[in-house]
Amino acid sequence: MHELSLIHALIDTVVQSARENGITKVTKVKLVVGESHGALPDALQFAFDILTVDTVCAGAELAIEKNALLLKCRECAREFHPEGYLFCCPGCGVSNAALVKGNELYVEYFEGE
Ligand SMILES: [Zn+2]
Repeated sequence: MHELSLIHALIDTVVQSARENGITKVTKVKLVVGESHGALPDALQFAFDILTVDTVCAGAELAIEKNALLLKCRECAREFHPEGYLFCCPGCGVSNAALVKGNELYVEYFEGE
């Protein structure tokens, strides 16, 4: 499952950071996931539940913020949200766009005690 590998590294980061800060129980993890990863919230939650067993994150609440895909046309500088997998600019029709937003994948913050 795609989401397992995505979330695995993030949990490692939280576990390590919690250890460095003397936190023994993580209660909430806030995740920011860009649309380009194609991760489903339910699958992320499932992966989180599995991978946090026997870690300080076990039982923590997972909050997910999804960032929609936003592209910027290199020809006319118009910003647009792509329809499906057609990355053509709706302004000039050229398929030459740069990713502005939607490629994020990180833990924004976590709470614990
Ligand atoms: Zn354009």
